[in-house]
Amino acid sequence: MNKFLKTLIPFDIAKGLKITGTHFGKVFFSANRRKVPLHVVSEYPEVPVKVQPRFRGRLMMLRDEAGEIKCVCCMSCEKICPTGVISIIAGKQEGRKTRIPERYDFEMERCIFCEFCVESCAFDAIILNHQFELAVYDREDMSLSMEGDFQNMFKTSPVARFSVADEAQ
Ligand code: SF4
Ligand code: SF4
Repeated sequence: MNKFLKTLIPFDIAKGLKITGTHFGKVFFSANRRKVPLHVVSEYPEVPVKVQPRFRGRLMMLRDEAGEIKCVCCMSCEKICPTGVISIIAGKQEGRKTRIPERYDFEMERCIFCEFCVESCAFDAIILNHQFELAVYDREDMSLSMEGDFQNMFKTSPVARFSVADEAQ
């Protein structure tokens, strides 16, 4: 009889709903008290997503306030990279005491976003930026360098390329 009643009345569903309801109530009332907006859905891509500060996106080179390339070609990032995706050719520039990269090439397709390169750089010359839209149509576009406008080491990749029609580019 007990078994029969259990079949008729969905106790397990009721139990599940109770747990969900309790949790919802807790979140709802605590959010109201703290005046936290309850809505957790991001309307991406219309509204840009804010990622956590520690998010590891694409490797990017930096310039200082004077617009000078910060990298001094110590080769630390190249050496420490476990997947060997950074390759640097050092050069010289008149009036600059330190070396300057003639080439700084980065093969993004094999980057594992470990951030070892950034941690090893004593000159704060590189970061992993907050860009997560890294998809490309052609494999060659995974190769970044200091030249050109597209996939340039000093700029974020033009995201619009992936969200607008080809003719609009
Ligand atoms: S994040 Fe890791 S894998 Fe990517 S370039 Fe830096 S060291 Fe190499
Ligand atoms: S570790 Fe920093 S300064 Fe050294 S080569 Fe890499 S980016 Fe340049």
